[in-house]
Amino acid sequence: ETPLLEVENLKKHFPIRKGLFSQVVGQVYAVDGISFSVASNETLGIVGESGCGKSTAGKAILNLIKPTDGQVRLEGQRIDNLSGAKMRAVRKQLQVVFQDPYSSLNPRLRVGEIVGEPILNFDSRSRHSREERVVELLEKVGLPAEAAKKYPYEFSGGQRQRIGIARALALDPKMIVCDEPVSALDVSVQAQVVNLLMDLQQDLKLSYLFVAHDLAVVEHISHRVAVMYLGKIVELSDKHSLFSGPLHPYTEALLSAVPQPSPRRKPDRIVLKGDVPSPINPPKGCRFHTRCPYAFDRCYVEEPPLREVQPGRQVACHLHDETEETKSSSVPL
Ligand code: SF4
Ligand code: MG
Repeated sequence: ETPLLEVENLKKHFPIRKGLFSQVVGQVYAVDGISFSVASNETLGIVGESGCGKSTAGKAILNLIKPTDGQVRLEGQRIDNLSGAKMRAVRKQLQVVFQDPYSSLNPRLRVGEIVGEPILNFDSRSRHSREERVVELLEKVGLPAEAAKKYPYEFSGGQRQRIGIARALALDPKMIVCDEPVSALDVSVQAQVVNLLMDLQQDLKLSYLFVAHDLAVVEHISHRVAVMYLGKIVELSDKHSLFSGPLHPYTEALLSAVPQPSPRRKPDRIVLKGDVPSPINPPKGCRFHTRCPYAFDRCYVEEPPLREVQPGRQVACHLHDETEETKSSSVPL
């Protein structure tokens, strides 16, 4: 069966221009060749520190920015090269919830207009049935029908994010890219919004690509998790294996920094040396070698590919090469 979303070797590089003639003097390798798929009714979390390329990846998948290379397919259909009316048709299936519920809602429109706008653009139903649909959507996200008549400023951050979710649901999408959907919200409100997204997934058979830096949130909502570092996926696995036994040294360090240590986690925090290097000139070999506590000769010269080392577990690290060899040599000829 074709996965709902397939991302293949996706790249987004931004040229750096300088001088009188705006010559290209370099590239920012924001997203540098990532591949994964998302199944129907599944949530794939993408985590990493700010600047790792996760939001850029989300935008490129949504076709809000043009990828430099690679393919994005929705239900087997390439969408990265679509524009205009063809992309608008795909937009029904592939929606987005943005990070900031304060800036992503037009302050001059009433909530009913905001939530009903996608329907207006795509659907020729009568005004009356459109209004009914708006009320239905508001109720789905836990807001009263009267909310339709108010303006965004009359709502709290959490309520505004519910409005943003209602708008994303208006056209019955199959997939929603959520870009840090709760990071602008108070911690007390975050769980409510995350749980709402999870309930909606059950109800509507949605898939999510859930981009976030907060590991606890990602662990809660995701089925599988991809960890990004400097434009690359360094580990991709089902969430239980990833959180209970990270394979990549970077994942291990990220998890060790989670404030509430649970018994299954390493109690000692691994403090990485140095800062994340610039994506303009990423380190040669393994991009993590400048900070990796386990780096050895090979890491400085050879880039480790992301490969499956256990069923359903992919990692890009030379330390796990052995596992790969053992696995392939045990395959009966
Ligand atoms: Fe560390 Fe080397 Fe693995 Fe990179 S390949 S994560 S530097 S051990
Ligand atoms: Mg971001």
